[in-house]
Amino acid sequence: MEKIYVLGVPVHKINMNEALDKSIEFLNSDEKRVIFTPNSEIVMMAKDDKHLLSVIEGADLVIPDGIGLVLASRIIKKPLEERVTGIDLMENILDYCNKAKKSIFILGGKPGVADKALKNISKKYPNIKALGSYHGYFKGYHIGCEGHDEEKSVIDLINNLKPDVLFVAFGAPRQEFWIRRYKDEINANIFMGVGGSVDVYAG
Ligand code: UDP
Repeated sequence: MEKIYVLGVPVHKINMNEALDKSIEFLNSDEKRVIFTPNSEIVMMAKDDKHLLSVIEGADLVIPDGIGLVLASRIIKKPLEERVTGIDLMENILDYCNKAKKSIFILGGKPGVADKALKNISKKYPNIKALGSYHGYFKGYHIGCEGHDEEKSVIDLINNLKPDVLFVAFGAPRQEFWIRRYKDEINANIFMGVGGSVDVYAG
């Protein structure tokens, strides 16, 4: 997959169909994979933050979720075909999970929000295995405060359920740092940072 660099930050040069095909390929492999959906704001942040840049560089799929990225790609003469938003890719992944009877867990959002989102997703996609959810304000989730008991119990909960897709919605760049920090310890196939999309699904 070709990457383009916007202000030194890598983004895959893909359209929605290709992003979905890649995601399906990830879902049908045994390896853990990470999907990030940066917009221009996050790219601006990553250009000045080496740690965030290395986290984005380490992802398996980085979709261009911002019209600013599409415009920038034209300026550097490596035009992206279209904006690929995180919420649209999430919706397409959910649709595939429904067809393939895959399982999901939603982590993040204010208490009650992920649960509501999961219920709405289950209504729309009855064949998805909606394994569970947890809010995004548990103790220990932010960098420097790792290892709190509540965080450990959230990780244990996810590990017992072994979701095919773990959607993480702490907002950027918190979710990106958290995924990078815990990917190796968590039993999930795809880790996707979805930001405010969980609020949209909650309605
Ligand atoms: N959020 C969270 N924990 C936090 C901060 C934010 O779970 O410590 C949730 C917040 O409730 C919202 C989601 O992260 O559901 C996305 O937040 P925001 O809209 O700020 O992020 P963006 O979509 O702009 O990246």
